[in-house]
Amino acid sequence: MRVIVVGAGIMGLSIAYNLAVRGVEVIVLESRYPGSGLSVRAIGAVHSQWDNEHDISLAKRNRDLLEHLSGALDFNIPFRQDGYLLLATDEDQLMQIKEYTKIQQSLGIETTSLSRQELSRRYSMLDASSIVGGTLSRGDGSIHPFSVVFGYWKGLLEHGGKLLRPALVKGLEANGEQVRGLDTDQGTYEADAFVLSAGVGTRSILRSAGLDVPTVIVRHEMLATEPLKFFLKPMIELYRDRMYINQSLRGEIICHIPRTDPNPKDTKSTLEFLDDAATELTALLPSLRAAKVLRSWAGLVETTPNSEPICGRVGYGNLSVALGDSGKGIMLAPLIGELMSEAIITGEPSADLLPYSPQATMNDGGTKANYI
Ligand SMILES: Cc1cc2nc3c(=O)[nH]c(=O)nc-3n(C[C@H](O)[C@H](O)[C@H](O)COP(=O)(O)OP(=O)(O)OC[C@H]3O[C@@H](n4cnc5c(N)ncnc54)[C@H](O)[C@@H]3O)c2cc1C
Repeated sequence: MRVIVVGAGIMGLSIAYNLAVRGVEVIVLESRYPGSGLSVRAIGAVHSQWDNEHDISLAKRNRDLLEHLSGALDFNIPFRQDGYLLLATDEDQLMQIKEYTKIQQSLGIETTSLSRQELSRRYSMLDASSIVGGTLSRGDGSIHPFSVVFGYWKGLLEHGGKLLRPALVKGLEANGEQVRGLDTDQGTYEADAFVLSAGVGTRSILRSAGLDVPTVIVRHEMLATEPLKFFLKPMIELYRDRMYINQSLRGEIICHIPRTDPNPKDTKSTLEFLDDAATELTALLPSLRAAKVLRSWAGLVETTPNSEPICGRVGYGNLSVALGDSGKGIMLAPLIGELMSEAIITGEPSADLLPYSPQATMNDGGTKANYI
């Protein structure tokens, strides 16, 4: 069996690696270079503090995979399980996230609630005056996204997979109910099955065949300070505006916020983001007032109405998509890679991924739009 995967981001490489390990002939077509889309722009948050059983149990299985990924790929992938602290700024948010901890605990995730007093006592770096409380999941944390991308790339090649670049996929050639080949600027590539995991490039390939999936683009922006002595543990998320804060392996404080500009087109940083992030960061972590911001960047994230990934067959029997990660691609790619590869080999949809199928996404008119 021969499979072509489009896009060498974390998602495409994980799927391709898992196919290659299972003996499939795989070719990845990439228009630029591995990780050049979103995958190396991410902060690398990995957590299980979701609001429903399906997402929580997938997050738990994925965390188990991440714990063993360095060994499986024979590549150093730093996964820091320093904990993940979700902070609420009003009583409604606190009630909501405490409610979710009950589902998380019932599925074996070690989440605990903390009052403002407990937060101040435990984390002296935190100014908790605007915080009413939070929840902490101890086994969660962050992963180094570059390492995951390079680890899967190495694993793919070691198992006989190929990565062809630069190869820009322009469209699909279909024959009845099957896709026959992909048109690229390097010619046509034929295979038995095809996976589109090209991030923001996916929809234009689908549209060339009259197909589509319901996503909107949300700009996510990030900054990094100069390297500082280590002081920030666990990783922090401010629930109100989904601000994520972590200290990188080099000591930089990195802070990420999804923005709500109506029609984002480019990945330029904005002054508004720097202003908002600096205000919020220094209010929460006052010692950062003296820190210098060295870099900032942004990425365009395909986001679905229900804020879940889209994974599964679309339009043709041998065509699958893996996208619309809505900002969860790093934390879910290892498990999605396993499940999608099994579905492609058996020809049967993955039961675990059915809630993420294109059909399910279209039927779910945005009920969980609390995650932008
Ligand atoms: C600032 C920021 C912070 C984030 N933080 C987190 C986080 O903490 N945790 C988390 O889980 N997720 C996070 N995310 C989201 C995460 O980065 C993505 O979910 C993930 O990287 C998606 O991976 P991907 O492989 O689907 O897409 P991408 O990494 O975008 O890869 C797609 C690839 O396809 C290639 N391509 C595109 N079009 C074509 C074409 N026509 N032909 C051939 N190749 C093509 C591109 O060049 C690219 O290499 C963050 C995103 C941003 C922007």
